[in-house]
Amino acid sequence: MSTLLEVTNLKKHFPLKDSKLFSREKPVLKAVDGISFSIQSGETLGLVGESGCGKSTAGRSILKLINPTEGDIYFKGENISHYRGEKLRKLRKDMQLIFQDPYASLNPRKTIAQTITEPMKIFQLSKEEQYKKLERLLDVVGLRSYHKDRYPHEFSGGQRQRIGIARSLALDPELVICDEPVSALDVSIQAQVINLMEDLQEEFNLTYIFIAHDLSVVHHISDRVAVMYLGEIVEIAEANELYQDPKHPYTQALLSAVPEANPHLEKQRIILKGDLPSPANPPSGCKFHTRCPFAEEICRQEKPELKQVSSNGQMAACHFVREVVS
Ligand code: SF4
Ligand code: MG
Repeated sequence: MSTLLEVTNLKKHFPLKDSKLFSREKPVLKAVDGISFSIQSGETLGLVGESGCGKSTAGRSILKLINPTEGDIYFKGENISHYRGEKLRKLRKDMQLIFQDPYASLNPRKTIAQTITEPMKIFQLSKEEQYKKLERLLDVVGLRSYHKDRYPHEFSGGQRQRIGIARSLALDPELVICDEPVSALDVSIQAQVINLMEDLQEEFNLTYIFIAHDLSVVHHISDRVAVMYLGEIVEIAEANELYQDPKHPYTQALLSAVPEANPHLEKQRIILKGDLPSPANPPSGCKFHTRCPFAEEICRQEKPELKQVSSNGQMAACHFVREVVS
């Protein structure tokens, strides 16, 4: 396997209107605040955290739908952080997004054929090629050929997400960022769509970043999982390792809320204190200290680094998890 994507110290800060007239620093909302990770070709990385933790912003920054404030993004070894114009347009073929809301992301006035072939038209595929691809994509996502002349309102939520997935594959991307692709669907439909996405990954050799707020959703599909809190990655590990032996107190709390995450663990629900603080004014030191059941003085003062905490490469950012050097 080769590294498809590498992200180093990625930040996306949004300027806020100045509230304190004399404050020296310009106020910013630190949606993504220095994340680093890499993904191997064919791998699925789950990106998990509460809403507002910056995971969607991270996904959009990687796709360059919004410009990162700082940091580098390497795609197949090329630094794409400063791509603009034609280079960026070409790159869009290789990286696609699947949206959360299949209702909102499909144009109600376009037929399914028009929707799926739209990206192919933009990249000037021949009519014949468009037709061939359309038929194949309908088939692989489990729709029928006669569906192509229908409109989005004639389909169920699960079918609409299949249409969205077909469109995202229209240009043979390598990386697909899936932003909560099943959150808007009924639980009974979620598993079908996730299974479909796994089949498509095999068939088209796709690499996924799978964004979700719920750890139970990403368990099945992810090879590795990164947990985000207030714009930072607090833990990243092989999926099984993370679920069986979470090291960071925040991951432990998230997992304790998942009913059958791990039946072997004696589980006690860890209730987090208070609400998620604002990313415009994050807590000092460890950003999690205002809600962490184990916080001590050092947590308020010093920011813990993300460090290796098991011989398998599991990493966590907590002062009280012992570093393991493999
Ligand atoms: Fe909790 Fe302190 Fe660890 Fe942060 S560094 S997770 S506050 S124990
Ligand atoms: Mg989101």
